[in-house]
Amino acid sequence: MGSSGQEKTRRRRPRLRRVAAVAALAFGGIALLVAAALVWTTTRLQRSVVVVVRDTQSQAVASEVELALLTYHRLANLQMAAPNEEVASARRETARRLRQRLHEAGAFVGSAEERSRLDSIERSLQRYFRHRQQLDAQDLGLEEVTRRIRPALNAALADLRALSELNAEQVQRADQDALRLNRMANVTGLAGAGILLLGLTVVFAGARRYLVEPVLELHETLEQLEAGEAEARTTPRGPREIADLATALNDMADALARQREQQLIFLAGVAHDLRNPLSTVKVGLQALEDEPAEEERRRARRVLDRQVDRLARMIDDLLDATRIESGNLELHREDLDFRDVVRETVELYEHTSPAHEVVSKLPDSPVTVSGDPDRLAQVLSNLLSNAIKYSPDGGEVTVALERDEGEAILSVTDEGIGIAPDELSGLFRPFRRRKPEVAPGAGLGLSVTRRIVDAHDGTIEVESEPDEGSTFRVRLPLAEESRPEAPAPAGA
Ligand code: ADP
Repeated sequence: MGSSGQEKTRRRRPRLRRVAAVAALAFGGIALLVAAALVWTTTRLQRSVVVVVRDTQSQAVASEVELALLTYHRLANLQMAAPNEEVASARRETARRLRQRLHEAGAFVGSAEERSRLDSIERSLQRYFRHRQQLDAQDLGLEEVTRRIRPALNAALADLRALSELNAEQVQRADQDALRLNRMANVTGLAGAGILLLGLTVVFAGARRYLVEPVLELHETLEQLEAGEAEARTTPRGPREIADLATALNDMADALARQREQQLIFLAGVAHDLRNPLSTVKVGLQALEDEPAEEERRRARRVLDRQVDRLARMIDDLLDATRIESGNLELHREDLDFRDVVRETVELYEHTSPAHEVVSKLPDSPVTVSGDPDRLAQVLSNLLSNAIKYSPDGGEVTVALERDEGEAILSVTDEGIGIAPDELSGLFRPFRRRKPEVAPGAGLGLSVTRRIVDAHDGTIEVESEPDEGSTFRVRLPLAEESRPEAPAPAGA
């Protein structure tokens, strides 16, 4: 799959945060719905309870009114049959109690129908009392009065019973309602619990499949890599974050494998490069022993000397690289005139190759930098030897030192084979050996050089054109006394 395809698959994966948010929302939604249903049910239940209590009380009051009416009726009859003050007072008291109860009944009215029933009770009672008073005032016999008042009494009793029945009916309805609501609450609660349980099961199963398993697989791959199984890889799966981790682990394992491969190639190269001068040394030693002519023996010694130098330099580079990689580069810094370092190093290289002319351009006044003279010499030495090495046809190698805005700029320019643009990046990384056919080397010189320049708070850059030549430029901060604002020595 191409990298854009992989990116598309990656983007299609849900993010862990989004999955968690959706799950939380779903659970929250279900919990809210269940809670709302339960709140609604309890509110309705409470309403039913209110109806039951109110209507039961209303029913009790209606019974009391009925009882008071019958008592009143009997007392009125009794008073007709045997008038006396005690009965009259009991009759008045009963009438008062009846009115009071009737008034109380008004507080338990819960519907328009009840209201109208209560109104009609009031009217029929009024009619009864009015009629009774009229009959009492007439000189009629008890039997006649009882006969005439009966319809009004029956009408009032019928109205009272109608209210009682209505109340009973309403209580029954509220009771049924409560029963239904109770059943509904049970179903809602059970269904909510069931859905939550199902949701939890789904979440656990999903978490196992999409979170736990990929993480365990990652862990297993890590353990395999740790145990030295360099080809162990994991499949990116699960949410994007975990899949990204898996991809990163695979990339890291690939990079390690590549690095290992490069190191092996490097080791093979180094062994090969060390072997070449050794063969020459062996031939030279043989020549020293066998050659009778002094001139030839001197020449063999020179060759031997150069090869031993080359070997020493390669071994020094290797040692420096290991020291630098393990963080043990020690600098003995001091304020020094960079021109001295340049002069001494250029002198060493001036006569190493007859095909090359090493030219140096130095300013008249000191260029003071704070640095380790040996390490700075090593920087220039690496650049100079590369300039000579990679100019197989000879030519001019220019070493220039100048000052610019608080910096010392050292440049080494050659007219050699140059460097292809795609090779420029990564040129300063270790083990980059690009032209073994032109010149041997460990591929470490430039990386060591860059580390030394870094340690001096400087920078190094390269400009190059294939077949035209290259310029390596090192910039180091000037020490205080060499800065432009400091009093410049004459001739600067
Ligand atoms: P090596 O030991 O191979 O010279 P370096 O780290 O010094 O290692 O250089 C890395 C690579 O950079 C070389 O193999 C070469 O291809 C390239 N290089 C360095 N200096 C020059 C130069 N002056 N001209 C052309 N190529 C160069």
